Parts: sequence; C-alpha cells; structure tokens
Amino acid sequence: MIVIIGAGICGLATAYELTCRGAQAVVIERGEPFAEQSAGLARIFRIAHRRPELCRLAMCARTGWQRWEAEFGAGRLLGSEGFIAVGAHNDIATAMTDAGAVFSSLDQAAIPARIPFLAATYPRGIFDPLGGSLRIRRALSALARRVEIRRGEAVSVDDDGATTLADGTVVRGDRVLICAGVQTPALFGPLDVEFAAHTRFTYAGADAVGAACLSAPEGYGLPLGSTGRWAFGQDVPDTATVRKLFPSLSPVAQVDCVTVRAPWLDDGGDGWTVARRGRVVAFVGGNLMKFGPLLGELLAEAVLTDELPRDLTLG
Ligand SMILES: Cc1cc2nc3c(=O)[nH]c(=O)nc-3n(C[C@H](O)[C@H](O)[C@H](O)COP(=O)(O)OP(=O)(O)OC[C@H]3O[C@@H](n4cnc5c(N)ncnc54)[C@H](O)[C@@H]3O)c2cc1C
Repeated sequence: MIVIIGAGICGLATAYELTCRGAQAVVIERGEPFAEQSAGLARIFRIAHRRPELCRLAMCARTGWQRWEAEFGAGRLLGSEGFIAVGAHNDIATAMTDAGAVFSSLDQAAIPARIPFLAATYPRGIFDPLGGSLRIRRALSALARRVEIRRGEAVSVDDDGATTLADGTVVRGDRVLICAGVQTPALFGPLDVEFAAHTRFTYAGADAVGAACLSAPEGYGLPLGSTGRWAFGQDVPDTATVRKLFPSLSPVAQVDCVTVRAPWLDDGGDGWTVARRGRVVAFVGGNLMKFGPLLGELLAEAVLTDELPRDLTLG
C-alpha cells in the first residue's frame, strides 16, 4: 500500500494516478481536503515560465488537464482566457522560444483589450494563448471522489514506511509520499524551503469572464472561472496600487495564505524539490497547481519504482 500524506493537489493527483494504475493508495489528511495551499476556486495555468524546461513540462501538464476533463466528465477544468506577462516578458519569451511554445507580443493597446477593466499602461508584454483559469475546486472535488482519504494527522514518518498519527495509530506503507505543504519539512527533514505570508483579494464590479490571466510587477490576476469576479494576489498587500490598476473593481473577499521561498525556485516562484530516503519520498514546491496532472503521474512513478523520474528532479 502507498501512504500519501496531504490531500492537496499533489496528494490527490498522485493517489488518483496510482488508483488508475491499479495500485492501492490511501491519503491521510489532518483537516478538510484541499483547504490549505490548494484552497479556492481558481488558479492560473500558463505555459509561460522563465525556464524552458518548465515551459515544456507545462505543455505536458496541459495535456493532463485535458485528459482529466475527459475522465472526470465534470465540465471544463481549463479555461481558454489566455495569459499575459508584463515585466519579465523578455526572459519568458526566450524560454518559450527555446521550448518551442507558441506566444505573441502585445503592444500597449493590446493588453487592456484582453483585460478591459485594467487601467494601467504597460508598454509591452507577451500573450500565452494556451494559458487560462483553472477551475480547481471542480478538479479537486472530482479527484477526492475517486481516491481513499482517511482523516488523521501524521506526526512522524520513519524511513521504513511507518507513519505515526496523532492518535497513536501506526499506518505502514510499502512507500510513503509526504506532500503535506507547509508541514513537509517537519515530517521529512530540511528541504531548503520557507513559507511566507501571501494575500489574495477577490474583486467584483466588472464582468471578468473571459478576461486574460495576468502576471505583472504589482502582482498576478485571474478571472475566477465563470463567477464574473477577478482575483489579484500580492506578497505584500497594497490596496492603493490595486485601486489604480483596477479602478472599477471593489474587494469582496480576502484569502490569507502562504507563498513558498526557496533557492531552487525560479524568479517567478515556480519549481519544486523532491527527496527520497528509505521508503519515503518528500515533495514540495511553488505554483504547483498548474502542473497537477503531470505531478500526479511523476510522483506515482516515483513511489512505484526505486528511481525518481528525470522530470521530477529539476536541475
Ligand atoms: C492564493 C494562492 C494563489 C496561487 N496561485 C497559483 C496559480 O495561479 N497557479 C499555480 O499553479 N499555483 C498557484 N498557487 C500555488 C498552488 O496552489 C500550490 O502550489 C499547491 O496548491 C500546493 O499543493 P500541495 O498539495 O503541495 O499543498 P497543500 O494544498 O497545502 O496540501 C497539503 C495538505 O497536507 C495536509 N497536511 C499538512 N500536514 C499534515 C499532517 N501532518 N498530517 C496530515 N495532513 C497534513 C494539509 O492539511 C493540506 O491539505 C497559489 C497558491 C495560493 C495559496
């Protein structure tokens, strides 16, 4: 049996891919499933990254989202809004070119044409036509219905696969995958990662359906699926700047959560690290949602074999 600690996107995707391969997997979750970093309605999907290998892996992940759409029959999971990058667009354009990804350049007028309620004037940017808004609650709910989730808090994991829960129960796995988000280093050991505060506001006031997702020096924004609302996230909340960017919008909700800091992330906060010791694999990273289906496949392979798949060990 494979024991997976954490019912966020990584744990649920891996459990699902293991189940599809006929393996027995149980996910141990201390609270409600997908209530920590994977909480909320939507996330940005983008091919656009600053490293060509992340662009390439995102292209694989997109195929995975389309596969999940077909397998779950739960409606659309990945929207076709597209993604705009301003600020780091030169690095992203170079990486996308290296990866053979499709993109186009945008001039000053073309950016607000794709986000009509955006008041800022950026001289240029790039458009990633395969980017869009992921309907994550729909996807995570579909995954949770297809895997076994057991309520419990893991307090220690031994290299031989014995996981001790807070109530004293010991669960023995042939392999254990720790993807417990902020708790992964506490359960596995140092992974050269820190977690910092992050705030994302939800805004109403203009119909954001169909607006492109955005990454800008001030933060990142996306339409919340088909709700008509817009979300904008910043590491340091700066409501005055957001008001200037989107003068017609008003905040209606706030999510206080964490962001990941680590030397192995790129400048955009994208990437991950994986480690293996004995029967235990530990995995943690930043901006992982968009890679969900691919990570599920790679992590399933990692726990079913003695090797870490090459795509999981980002150089
Ligand atoms: C506001 C916000 C916006 C984001 N935007 C994007 C985006 O646009 N695009 C993108 O790709 N990514 C984005 N991300 C990042 C992405 O959501 C995360 O990288 C991803 O959800 C992490 O998933 P995870 O499974 O690793 O961790 P989590 O979702 O945190 O899951 C870990 C789970 O482990 C459980 N757990 C912890 N400790 C224990 C224990 N001891 N025993 C049992 N269970 C335990 C927790 O309760 C939790 O359910 C965003 C994140 C946030 C917070």
